[in-house]
Amino acid sequence: MSEDQNKLKWVSSVSELYPAVKGSVREVKKGCGYKSCKLCASGEKHQAYLFTYYKDGKQCSHHVPKPKLEELRKALENGRELERLMVENALVLLKSSRKKK
Ligand SMILES: [Zn+2]
Repeated sequence: MSEDQNKLKWVSSVSELYPAVKGSVREVKKGCGYKSCKLCASGEKHQAYLFTYYKDGKQCSHHVPKPKLEELRKALENGRELERLMVENALVLLKSSRKKK
């Protein structure tokens, strides 16, 4: 495949993976702060989701609103697929340089 064809193939597979996200989602238990809350009093607390990611080498996290959870999970899956494609790119690049020499 020519360089241009490879580039077109890359652009189309990447655009299909929009939005691609890198990070992870985990479930956490959070207190709501209401003294009258029975769930918190029982120690069971409330189910919440946190998105954790790295920014400039520092771990950060962001609350995930429940309606956004599925969308975020799909985006994370896209991110993993994108990383797989990037590894493939490296192998293609290394193979093609070997052929030239
Ligand atoms: Zn509560």
